Amino acid sequence: MKIQKGRVVRMHYTLRDESGATIESSGGRDPLTYLHGFGHLITGLEKTLEGAQAGLRTSVTVPPQDAYGEKDPQAVIRAPREDFPEGLTLEPGIEVQADTPDGPISFTVVAIEGDEAVLDANHPLAGKTLTFDVEVLDVREATADEVAHGHVHGAGGAHGHH
Ligand code: ZN
Repeated sequence: MKIQKGRVVRMHYTLRDESGATIESSGGRDPLTYLHGFGHLITGLEKTLEGAQAGLRTSVTVPPQDAYGEKDPQAVIRAPREDFPEGLTLEPGIEVQADTPDGPISFTVVAIEGDEAVLDANHPLAGKTLTFDVEVLDVREATADEVAHGHVHGAGGAHGHH
C-alpha cells in the first residue's frame, strides 16, 4: 500500500545534522507512527515519503525552508539576569518561559553575557539542513475517526483527549 494522505505510516528514522551527528533516532525505541498528509512531519520529509511503500529505506537531506525554517534574528533577545526567578541557574542550553503580550513563549538560553542572558525563541533546529534516514515498516488506511481527529489512535498514537 502506498503512502498518501489519510494513511497511517509506521517507520524508523534517524535524524542527523550537517556534520552527520545524530540529533534524534527511533532506533531502540518504538517506531514513529503518524497520519500522512496532516503536517505531522516536516514538509521535506512528507514530500519524499508520498507514494512510497513499506520496505522503503532511504536517506533524504532537507534544507531549512522545508524543515524548521530559517532562523529569525528578531527572535533573539536579551534580558537582564534580575528578570529571572531567584534560584534559577541561568546557563546556556536551558529553556525558560517568558510572558509576552502574545502569551507565553519558550526561549533557549544561548549565552550569558555580563548581567544579561541571550535568549533565542527560534526552534532549536531552525536554520539547519537535516538528513533523515528512514525505513518504512508498514502503511495502513486510517480509520474515519483518525482522519476526523487528524492523528493516529491506538499503539503509538496521540491520546487522552476523547
Ligand atoms: Zn483522537
